[in-house]
Amino acid sequence: MKTIYLLLVGFLATLGIKKAIKFFDENEILIFSKEDLVREGEEGYISDPYKDAMDLRGTPTHVCVCGCNIWNVRVIFEDYSVSSYFVDMECANCGSMATAPTLADRESKE
Ligand SMILES: [Zn+2]
Repeated sequence: MKTIYLLLVGFLATLGIKKAIKFFDENEILIFSKEDLVREGEEGYISDPYKDAMDLRGTPTHVCVCGCNIWNVRVIFEDYSVSSYFVDMECANCGSMATAPTLADRESKE
């Protein structure tokens, strides 16, 4: 804890009181022990399922850059069939967002 006070005094001396007050008004400072961190591979580590996710939206696509062709898409069903769907979709493997292809996209390519 003594180190934290010394750092704070050094910070105030460097920045100046007015700037320091403004800094602490605008920001919250989090102090935690490195011993409380759980690193990848250690017991208790929760991996981030979206750590490789990207935003690929724009050009309609059938396959994700990770190679997966299964998508999570919001759909509307009518008479036991998909009647419409949102064009924002998420890769079932890596979580990347992409744009779903539509019939209008196919017609514009022909
Ligand atoms: Zn993917």
